[in-house]
Amino acid sequence: MFEKVLIANRGEIALRVLRACNELGISTVAVHSTADADAMHVRLADESVCIGPPPATQSYLDIPAIMAACEITGADAVHPGYGFLSENAKFAEILEEHNITFIGPTSDHIKIMGDKITAKKTAEELGIPVVPGSDGGVKDVEEAFKVAADIGYPLIVKATAGGGGRGMKLAKTEADLAEAVQTAQTEAASAFGNPEVYLEKYLTLPRHIEIQVLGDGKGNAVHLGERDCSLQRRHQKVWEEAPSPALNATQREEIGEICADAMRKLKYRGAGTIEFLYENGEFYFIEMNTRLQVEHPVTEFVTGVDLVNEQIRVASGAGMSVTQDDIKITGHAIECRINAENPDTFIPSPGKIELYHPPGGLGVRVDSGVYAGYRIPPYYDSLIGKLIVSGSNRTETMMRLRRSLNEFVIEGIETTIPLFSDLLNNQDIANGAYDIHWLEKYLADR
Ligand code: ADP
Repeated sequence: MFEKVLIANRGEIALRVLRACNELGISTVAVHSTADADAMHVRLADESVCIGPPPATQSYLDIPAIMAACEITGADAVHPGYGFLSENAKFAEILEEHNITFIGPTSDHIKIMGDKITAKKTAEELGIPVVPGSDGGVKDVEEAFKVAADIGYPLIVKATAGGGGRGMKLAKTEADLAEAVQTAQTEAASAFGNPEVYLEKYLTLPRHIEIQVLGDGKGNAVHLGERDCSLQRRHQKVWEEAPSPALNATQREEIGEICADAMRKLKYRGAGTIEFLYENGEFYFIEMNTRLQVEHPVTEFVTGVDLVNEQIRVASGAGMSVTQDDIKITGHAIECRINAENPDTFIPSPGKIELYHPPGGLGVRVDSGVYAGYRIPPYYDSLIGKLIVSGSNRTETMMRLRRSLNEFVIEGIETTIPLFSDLLNNQDIANGAYDIHWLEKYLADR
């Protein structure tokens, strides 16, 4: 097992990783920008190193600064959390070269899944169902028209190097295609430095359903069921739950086993998430995230498996503590992402937290790094915590969620807590009847 893990992240996820290390008896190193000197992860870590000024490019994304912090502290492994360097193949490679373990997959697997066309091809070869579309990139409008004639309309033009929902253009009919391709190419060139685009059938009312996987890097892998993350605003997840209100046990087992089998063939190491759009009973792969996800706690609640502990175990070579037979989905869990934002306009609301009282009780988990007196810096994303609630079924979970939201007190800044209380009064939410466009429509109509 590792002796000292450096946590290359901040906020609630740095704390989540720190807690797992503490339980395993591993010393922790926090890194932080000057804006985060009094953050909770810095206070709780055994050691801390300031790695630069507030902008992430000069601190949390600065590979030489993080390598120097590893060197100074003698860390033998790095956990990247999510975001920042978690899917940076170069960072994983540099760590590999310096004999410091990257708690995540190999740099090769990060690379394969980082390029959307390669990811899709690999998924297809591994037996995962994908969205029908062009066979690789399309070089110009003329080729796009030929391919589109096969796929049919509506279709979506996507950037090969895309991410964060950018570089995507919808073509409802043939008349929209030329412009969609050209705009997507221009956007992709400026946002990602790579103008390549590809075409995909556009699914009109899908749900976003993702499968959590875990592999030991030696050909053993398991799946831990799904999460339904259809409630999104601007392609950002807002509410996640497990199990999905749309799947039954047979469907779960089928898609889960396809994913676990693919990971066995790939000899995947660590935690990963295979994301699908789901429509009319069919799954369509969109991408794989080769890291821990924000919404991993809902899976931890319904399976009882500590995903960060498993990540650390497999990275150290100790193997997974569970087999597929050990994993049973029990009860229900819902996560609400609490952002420091106005709940109506979603304008960020950084500043000082005057009063902080998180909810508690049976089945309630709050993952957050904030405290009363803490000043939320304006430089990073606005997620300040997650409220995750579980119950023996969906109805009980929703009742407990309502009670927890009522108890939650955060004063001094605005948060998205009122949005969730509103959602709990909605009949579609009560019925679990929502797709990926539902929340945007609800927000526009209210
Ligand atoms: P990114 O990596 O930029 O987030 P994804 O491929 O994960 O891009 O897609 C982001 C979101 O865009 C999906 O969750 C879905 O809402 C929408 N989307 C992507 N592909 C399609 C498609 N073929 N049909 C309909 N919606 C899509």
